[in-house]
Amino acid sequence: MRKILVVGAGQSGLQLALGLQSHGYEVTLMSNRTADEIRFGRVMSTQCMFDTALQHERDLKLNFWEQQTPRIQGLGVSVAAPGSHDPGPTQRVIDWLGRLDGYAQSVDQRVKMAGWMDTFVQRGGQLVIHGAAVSDLDYFSRAYDLVLVSAGKGELVSMFGRDPERSPYTAPQRALAVSYVHGLGPRPEHPELEAVRCNLVPGVGELFVMPTLTTSGRADILFWEGIPGGPLDVFDGVKDPTEHLSLTLELMETFLPWEYARATRVELTDAGGTLAGRYVPTVRNPIGRLPGGGLVLGVADVVVANDPITGQGSNSASKCAAAYLASILEQGEKEFDEAWMRATFDRYWETARHVTKWTNAMLAPPPEHILNLLGAAGQLPTAADRFANAFDDPADFEDFFYEPEKTAAYLGSLTGA
Ligand SMILES: Cc1cc2nc3c(=O)[nH]c(=O)nc-3n(C[C@H](O)[C@H](O)[C@H](O)COP(=O)(O)OP(=O)(O)OC[C@H]3O[C@@H](n4cnc5c(N)ncnc54)[C@H](O)[C@@H]3O)c2cc1C
Repeated sequence: MRKILVVGAGQSGLQLALGLQSHGYEVTLMSNRTADEIRFGRVMSTQCMFDTALQHERDLKLNFWEQQTPRIQGLGVSVAAPGSHDPGPTQRVIDWLGRLDGYAQSVDQRVKMAGWMDTFVQRGGQLVIHGAAVSDLDYFSRAYDLVLVSAGKGELVSMFGRDPERSPYTAPQRALAVSYVHGLGPRPEHPELEAVRCNLVPGVGELFVMPTLTTSGRADILFWEGIPGGPLDVFDGVKDPTEHLSLTLELMETFLPWEYARATRVELTDAGGTLAGRYVPTVRNPIGRLPGGGLVLGVADVVVANDPITGQGSNSASKCAAAYLASILEQGEKEFDEAWMRATFDRYWETARHVTKWTNAMLAPPPEHILNLLGAAGQLPTAADRFANAFDDPADFEDFFYEPEKTAAYLGSLTGA
């Protein structure tokens, strides 16, 4: 039986390890944290996943939390009028909700990864708790048929060279600040419908609000993305979770009073319910060459780490794991050589390239035709629905988003203009 080492127990590593295990491979999973350290640790993401990515989990029968988790049926966009908060109150110039064809869900990674890790062990998988270093991988690459590095944005990425042609940014484009809360009220525009709400404050940043299933049950996430150096870039060094939440709410009151209005009674889910940080969006060479000459293949965030502004990383990790699993199965008993590794990554890049293009576009100030599109979607539910569903399949943006002519043609086709 073929022996595979998976380094890193996140969305992609665990999905791959469990998938390979179900096909009879001898899998070793290496994690720098135990299941309990993950379960009782700090939140890591907002991890909203759309239908295609969720379907990969269903295909492997790993959708353990699907019934308890809120079903996100809509995706809404609100845009604050530029500068209107000073002096307040802020006005909204755009405000609509698109309907998703298939629901999205967010299962706190603390719940999912800890649960999947336990399942992997219960099914006979070998779990090694160890923060792998490059020297360890040098040794292991000789003992395994394939080594997959799915260690997220950690230090092991240094083994994979940055691809400058696919990585337009050399500095973080947003400062991130997440709070998991209980007690958030519904949006009064659609009290019965669970939705992700994207609130854009031009020149300042974005706030995303979404329901989740966390360690203490149903909760909501408040997620600020601030342009570095701007008024939202104030979370670095804030150690006290209560202070982090207070800052989050103050900024909501200033910039997004319609979201603040339903947040006046929130409290943190737990002491680990906040997160702050920033990172550079980076695409890397997928093949790592070890000092001893062995090769390892990078997975998901290791090779394609986009900013979370479009909520795609977990979706991409699931799609990457599904693509890699298919390539491994198709390879049968043949060697996992460099050509196979390159082809395996290229198969994933076919979807990842659309995510990267769209996400990098969303980090830049929106050009006029995109503001027109977002504005028009308020009057054209078909356009709002299409925008929402492109979060599930970002390749669709090619046809109506990037080029002013295509946007105008699409809107014209809806209005008859
Ligand atoms: C604030 C924020 C919000 C986000 N919101 C969303 C969203 O709404 N939707 C979405 O789709 N994506 C979102 N993402 C992105 C998403 O969380 C990641 O892209 C996704 O988790 C990547 O999966 P992965 O398997 O590549 O890595 P990870 O999930 O990061 O897993 C890597 C694992 O490897 C472990 N590890 C690291 N180094 C080592 C080592 N040396 N040895 C052993 N183990 C190691 C880590 O501890 C971790 O458990 C968000 C990210 C952030 C930061």
